[in-house]
Amino acid sequence: MRDYSETPSTVYGPVDSWRFGFSLGVDLILRTSVCSFNCVYCQLGSIQEITNERQLFVKTERVMSDLKKSDWQKSDIITFSGSGEPTLATNLGETLKKIKEYTKLETHVLTNGTLLEDKTVRSELCNADRVSVKLDAVDEKMFATVNRPFNGITLGSILSGTKIFRKEFHGFFDTQIMFLPANRKMTAQLCDLINEIKPDEVQLNTPKRAYPSSWFIESRGRYDYKKSKVKLHDLKVIEREEAVEIENEIRQKTGLVVSSVYAES
Ligand code: SF4
Repeated sequence: MRDYSETPSTVYGPVDSWRFGFSLGVDLILRTSVCSFNCVYCQLGSIQEITNERQLFVKTERVMSDLKKSDWQKSDIITFSGSGEPTLATNLGETLKKIKEYTKLETHVLTNGTLLEDKTVRSELCNADRVSVKLDAVDEKMFATVNRPFNGITLGSILSGTKIFRKEFHGFFDTQIMFLPANRKMTAQLCDLINEIKPDEVQLNTPKRAYPSSWFIESRGRYDYKKSKVKLHDLKVIEREEAVEIENEIRQKTGLVVSSVYAES
């Protein structure tokens, strides 16, 4: 396994994001892909280290030094996602605070919610301006099929942690759903869960790009796979027409603002 502890940077982009303008990425993991899920659609490919154990992957000083050398001034928002699940990094709270202090830009964390039952993680995440929590399944069977979690993680524990976090967090909170043909028929049940969680917004995604077999450093950003020799796999997507139907159904059943990846094109 290659060691990325020195190069390249923990900060990448900014990339033009369909929702937020120019988004600068922060990768607190960097050494390979590390996540408590191994989602069938993951843009990082098959996850190399599937774990639920928090660790220090990259020192905060290194992240701040990379940030200072980056084009952060050209960014509208700073997004923590990178090479896996950002809450697995024990310095998430510290880097969120330091980056905010230094840039004054909006900060955003994308999480799969597996550690939200942990009080320390919730308190660290409260330093973000925005938090997006993934919700792709309505039952444990679908959860195991789509998200393929680390042993012992259940949808029930994620929902319970998410609801507690929702009450404690005063920033903008949204639920991100990856729609695949496999969970398409579960929109009504997903709406019931959304009504229990009560996010500020629902974001709909569907895999619009083929995904690589396995992680390589560029897979954490918006990489042009067509130019690479990496082996890619296609996933069945939800087409625009069907996405609009889902969007309308969620809007009607939850009364929430719903945004869709199809709005970008
Ligand atoms: S939670 Fe995110 S990083 Fe982890 S496997 Fe799923 S899509 Fe990939």
